[in-house]
Amino acid sequence: MPDRYRKHFDQEWETSDPESLAPKIEERLRAQLVYTYENSPLYRRKFDEAGVDPSGVGLDDLERVPFTVKDEVRQTQEAAPPLGEHACVGWEEVSRIHASSGTTGKPTLVGATVRDRQMWNELVARSMWAQGARPDNRAWVALSMGWWIAGLQFLEGLQYLGAAVLPGGNTEPTRSLSVIRETGLDFVISTPSFVQYLAGVARENDIGLHELGLKNMGLGGEPGAGNPHTRRQIEEAWGCKVYDCMGTADICTVVWSECERQDGMHFMGGGFVIPEIVDPASGDPIEPVKAATGELVYTAIHRECTPLIRFRMNDIVEVVDDEPCSCGRASYRIRCLGRADDMLIVRGVNVYPSAVADVVRSMRPRVTGHMQIQADGPGPSVEPPVLIRVEYDEDKNLDALKAELQQKIRQELVFQAAVELVPSGTLAPKGVMKTKLVAR
Ligand SMILES: [Zn+2]
Repeated sequence: MPDRYRKHFDQEWETSDPESLAPKIEERLRAQLVYTYENSPLYRRKFDEAGVDPSGVGLDDLERVPFTVKDEVRQTQEAAPPLGEHACVGWEEVSRIHASSGTTGKPTLVGATVRDRQMWNELVARSMWAQGARPDNRAWVALSMGWWIAGLQFLEGLQYLGAAVLPGGNTEPTRSLSVIRETGLDFVISTPSFVQYLAGVARENDIGLHELGLKNMGLGGEPGAGNPHTRRQIEEAWGCKVYDCMGTADICTVVWSECERQDGMHFMGGGFVIPEIVDPASGDPIEPVKAATGELVYTAIHRECTPLIRFRMNDIVEVVDDEPCSCGRASYRIRCLGRADDMLIVRGVNVYPSAVADVVRSMRPRVTGHMQIQADGPGPSVEPPVLIRVEYDEDKNLDALKAELQQKIRQELVFQAAVELVPSGTLAPKGVMKTKLVAR
């Protein structure tokens, strides 16, 4: 069992100077590329078409390797079901299959061998340790326990870290809260929308969340925890510290996590994944220096079952800082701005729906927190004023609320909005945790 007082779960991979790790990373990269070329018909074709010899690629010229996009994964799984032609092992080596719903509705599958699952455990343990989880903690995994990778993998990873896991999942919220009142609770991993929903359930059932003794909460799966208003409200409701984290089913459920500083997510996948930030339009690499923004790209370098090479995530991130962090971790820190295909452009200003939701939520309890942007066409460009429907809750002076919201959006996000207030329950019936942020 790891000593609860050590600062990092894996000191070498989290704190070493990146240059000292580069030879090891490069060796794993080459081994992965050659392995993938030899075992995956999809990647053999991609490398051959691009004229790239996988044994000759290094960290400095990784950009010679063609990107992989989500559609290719979907197409290859349709053509060669179930796992697709990027799968590199037979059934005797597959240890688990997860399915993600994807935006088009047809699930895409992810497979893992025993070694892949061990890699996932390491990444979850590093990240949850950074968020304050320790072996003597009681940790509730308040996530879906089914096909989605997150629930089961956080459960395994927290067990691996040594915590006592409370596997309540995200169903039966009232029962879970009453069980947890008995067991006590130190750590929760969940999504922003579910813990906000739970706060309402606790209020209705007279359960004082502050009395649970909760210390730390990790939130991922959707933007929210990294937005200042949303984070503060959740911290106040639960009486704990909230940390943002992010990953993807295709690579690992968590690849980035905030540390005690709560100011941007460190890369936690050292030795297992190589992250890149690229220009979403040209695909050119972008140096991860402070204030740089771009699209995340991942290359697996320790993956057996369904490796993905230079996989474009469609997530747009901003580098918060590239200076060494007070926590001792060496990687730069990022925050997620949103999905590239969700972004709106209002007279040249990039607007991310999750940032609008964060401003709206800052007005709770006068609003419910549910809102929807009404975009007037399929493209990213929207003409101002942008229509935003917002559910009001406990406010009687609606004219003032509307004016305040419009002013706040103009101040914080620099675009002109026309707020339409609608009664509570219009956008999200009771019990529904979140709404689609943009309607077209
Ligand atoms: Zn840090």
